[in-house]
Amino acid sequence: MTEAGSDRPTVAVIGGGVAGLSAAFLLRNAGLDVTVLEGAPRLGGKLAVSEVGGVPVDCGAEALLARRPEGTGLIGELGLSGQLQVPGTTAAGIWTRGSIRSLPRRQFMGVPADIGELAATGILSEAGLARAAQEPTLPDGEPATDVSVSSRVGGRFGAEVVDRLVEPLLGGVYAGRCDDLSFDATLPALAQAARRHHSLTDAAASLVPASGGPASGGPASDGPASDGPASPGRGLQPDRPRPAPVFTTLTGGLGTLPGALAVASGARVRTSAMVRELARTPAGWRVTIGSAHAPEVLEADAVIIAVPAAAAGRLLAGVADTAASALREIRYASMAVVTLAYPVAAFARPVTGSGFLVPAVDERTIKAVTFSTVKWPHLRATRPDLHIVRCSVGRLGEDAVLQRDDAELATLAAADLADATGVRGRPADARVSRWGGGLPQYSVGHLDRVARIRAGVASQPGLAVCGAAYDGVGIPACIATARLATEQVLAYLGSLARPA
Ligand SMILES: Cc1cc2nc3c(=O)[nH]c(=O)nc-3n(C[C@H](O)[C@H](O)[C@H](O)COP(=O)(O)OP(=O)(O)OC[C@H]3O[C@@H](n4cnc5c(N)ncnc54)[C@H](O)[C@@H]3O)c2cc1C
Repeated sequence: MTEAGSDRPTVAVIGGGVAGLSAAFLLRNAGLDVTVLEGAPRLGGKLAVSEVGGVPVDCGAEALLARRPEGTGLIGELGLSGQLQVPGTTAAGIWTRGSIRSLPRRQFMGVPADIGELAATGILSEAGLARAAQEPTLPDGEPATDVSVSSRVGGRFGAEVVDRLVEPLLGGVYAGRCDDLSFDATLPALAQAARRHHSLTDAAASLVPASGGPASGGPASDGPASDGPASPGRGLQPDRPRPAPVFTTLTGGLGTLPGALAVASGARVRTSAMVRELARTPAGWRVTIGSAHAPEVLEADAVIIAVPAAAAGRLLAGVADTAASALREIRYASMAVVTLAYPVAAFARPVTGSGFLVPAVDERTIKAVTFSTVKWPHLRATRPDLHIVRCSVGRLGEDAVLQRDDAELATLAAADLADATGVRGRPADARVSRWGGGLPQYSVGHLDRVARIRAGVASQPGLAVCGAAYDGVGIPACIATARLATEQVLAYLGSLARPA
C-alpha cells in the first residue's frame, strides 16, 4: 500500500518527541514516504526551550550524555556538531545534614566504591557509615530474580546509602523511588559487574576511575540517564570512564534538536494530529487521527509507535494485547521544572559547581538544583548579570506538591534555594514548566516487561515501538530505540519488496 500519488512505501511515525523524530530522520534516505503525527501543537515532547530573564534555556531535558555515542552521533549526522557545548563544571553536591556536600568522586550512581572517601564527605551519619563499611565483608548474596534498588543496595550497604546517595541520583534520572525501581534495569552496568565481584563496593570500583577521574554520577540534573539499560543486541556495556566531557548540550538548548530533526528528516510532520486508533488492514495499517466527529484516516505500510507507554498501550489494545497490557504496567512520575533568574549579586559567595541533589528523606520541595549558567557558561553571553537556576520538583507519589499553582511552586523552590545557598531577595524572573507523566518508572521486572512488549509487537508485521519507556530514559537511549525501530521497519519493508 502506498500514499495516493506516490509509489513509495509509507511509514507513519506516531509521536513527535525525540524518539519519533529521530526515527523519521533515520529513515530519510530509505526512499520512503514518512509522516510524523504529533498530538500536541508543538513538536519535541520532553525537549523544549523557554525564556527566563531573557535567556533561552531548556525547560525539559537539558544535558545530553556524551559517553554514549547515539546523541552526539545523531547531532553529527545533522551537521550540528559545531553547536555542542562543553560544561563549565560537572562537580555536583548533595544537600543534606545541614550543608551542600560534594558527591564522592568514586561512586557509581551513588553506590560507594571507596568508603574512606565517602566518610570524608559527611553525607552519611556515623552509624550509616559504619553500616556501609561492612559491605565488603558480607557474604555473597546474588538474588535469583530482579529486586528493587533498595533491597539490593540497601541490603548490602544499609538504608542511609540508598536514602542519601543512590535515591537522589537515581531520582534525578527517573524521579522515582528506590524501593520501586529495578536494580537490573536502572543499574545494568553495576548488575553485570556484581556478577564478577564478591562485593558491590568492588563492583562499583570496577566501573569508576582508580582515583582523580570524573565521578560517574555526573552533575546534578533531573534526567541524564547515565546508566540506562543498553540497547538490545549490543549487550550491556559497563559505563567505563573516558575523558571529559561527560555531558554536552546545544548552543540554543536541547529543545532545538526536535525542530532540526524534523526539517532534516524530509518527512511530512504534522502537529495537533492526535492518533486515536490503530488497526490492521489486509495490506498494512490504518491510523485514525482527530476527533470522533471528524476522524481522518491515514493508510500506511508500516507504523512506528513513539509515544509514552499509556498512549502506546491504548493504541495497541486489540492489535497486540500482550504488549498493550505490559505497556499499561509502566507507571510515570510527574514533575515540574522551576527556572529562576537571580542577579549574580544576590549570591553572597560565587556560585560554584553544577548543582546539587536533595534526598527525599530531608523533606524539601526541591529534589535537584542545576546552576545552569555555571554548568553551561555559554548561557551567560546574553545576560552576564544573571544566574539561571533550575530547580526540579516532584517524584513518583509526590503529586500534592505539583497541585500548587505556579507562583506558590516558584516561592517554595526559591525558599529552599535560599536555605541551601543563602541567596538573597526574590528572583528577577521565574518560569514553571510542568511535565505531567514526565518520566517512566523502570519498576522491578522492567526488563521482562519490555521483552513481553517487544515480543507482542514483533508478532505484528510492519509495527515497531521506540521511546523512553523501553531501554533507558535518557536521550541517547531513546535514539537507540528509534534506530532499532527503523531497522525493524526497513527489514519488514525490504521483505515485502523481495519476490516471494
Ligand atoms: C523534566 C525532564 C528533564 C529531563 N532531563 C533529561 C536530561 O537532562 N537528559 C536526558 O537525556 N534526558 C532527560 N529527560 C528524559 C528525556 O527527555 C525523555 O525521556 C525523552 O525526551 C523522551 O522522548 P520520547 O520521544 O520517548 O517521548 P516524548 O518526549 O514523551 O514524546 C512523545 C510524543 O508523543 C506525543 N503523543 C502522545 N500520544 C500521542 C498520540 N496518541 N498521537 C500522537 N502523538 C502522541 C506526545 O505529545 C509527545 O510529544 C528528562 C525528562 C524530563 C521530563
